[in-house]
Amino acid sequence: MTDSASSRARQTRIVHPQLDLAPGFESFSTPVMRASTVVFPDLATMRRADWRNDSQWRYGLHATPTSAALMQRLADIEGGKYTLLQPSGLSAISNVYFGVTKSGDDVLIPDNVYSPNREHGNWLARDFGLSVRFYDPMIGAGIAELIQPNTRLIWIEAPGSVTMEVPDVPAIAVAARARNVVTAIDNTYSAGLAFRPLEHGVDISVQALTKYQSGGSDVLMGATITASDELHQLLKLARMRLGIGVSVDDCSLVLRGLPSMKARFEAHDRSALALAHWLKARPEIAAVLHPALPDCPGHAEFMRDFSGAGGLFSVIFDARYSAAQVDAFVEALELFAIGWSWGGANSLAMPYDIASMRSASSWPHRGTLVRFYVGLEEEADLRADIERAMGLALR
Ligand SMILES: *Cc1c(COP(=O)(O)O)cnc(C)c1O
Repeated sequence: MTDSASSRARQTRIVHPQLDLAPGFESFSTPVMRASTVVFPDLATMRRADWRNDSQWRYGLHATPTSAALMQRLADIEGGKYTLLQPSGLSAISNVYFGVTKSGDDVLIPDNVYSPNREHGNWLARDFGLSVRFYDPMIGAGIAELIQPNTRLIWIEAPGSVTMEVPDVPAIAVAARARNVVTAIDNTYSAGLAFRPLEHGVDISVQALTKYQSGGSDVLMGATITASDELHQLLKLARMRLGIGVSVDDCSLVLRGLPSMKARFEAHDRSALALAHWLKARPEIAAVLHPALPDCPGHAEFMRDFSGAGGLFSVIFDARYSAAQVDAFVEALELFAIGWSWGGANSLAMPYDIASMRSASSWPHRGTLVRFYVGLEEEADLRADIERAMGLALR
């Protein structure tokens, strides 16, 4: 303790401790470094602080060593250079809109997009002067014909939420690059493990870390990942202006999930694929929408571009069952919970009315769609649960 420190009152010493911590401590976990205030060693350092420089610490909202550790690991998973963290996957989507587009710009959105993205785009079109148009997700290179001089951003989702069509991502990316249009993909489905969009020419990958990265169904977070210096600065500036930040305690939860993510993803994938094959042979089911099955739209693109599928797929019940019967089936399930936000250990099931969700592409099915998320339960028990619920509800 310095002389001036030892003469201070105990209360002051509690606020300004002179600690004697032995060096050399190591563990496998990333230390949780909480901060609002980041302390500068001197005024010159404070005055040099520049928001563009990722190697400077400035403010807890922007980064601490804990969030930076997560950012670097996520960039590595996707083969990107930069990651920014947002408090939810939807907030990451919003960060892309506010970072990349301005009033007067045109945005193309796939018709099977995660519906809060559709709502966000429609909101910006209604109240903030954006133009948004929805495109058929299977359009491929045909997207070129939709690009206008003011088109600034093309959203991609692979496969699309709920209906599982796998778009031709490289074809869309090539058409966009040729016209200087930014592409952003919602890559939550693959967790960045089974599909690497930046290697296929996409500019920004969006992740809902809420899902597989966390794996715990207990934390919300999102990320934008890019290899572009220019786009990183645009996203970072919007994030700063909007005051977007994440809790480092939440970061530590996501960091905890990352090492086991691949093993969990592969386990979800095995069970989901086995269940999808089994359901395909059931008389109650008219179609199984799983990208690894040959009749799923975009199956060829999936086989070309993806290395796995994870736990998510959908089925169409035979049209002889009413929507109310399918509701009763979902409610009769015991191991599949009713709820949003997949990626954890627990299986989920949710019915959707697809026809009411689309505007630009036609929907060929008449029966009711149920999306399954296959968790980490034993697959045979899940199968038995579905069979039992079918027996109760579909008579
Ligand atoms: C869950 C999800 C999101 C949003 O994630 P939140 O963290 O819940 O906001 C975005 N896109 C897709 C495809 C999702 O499944």
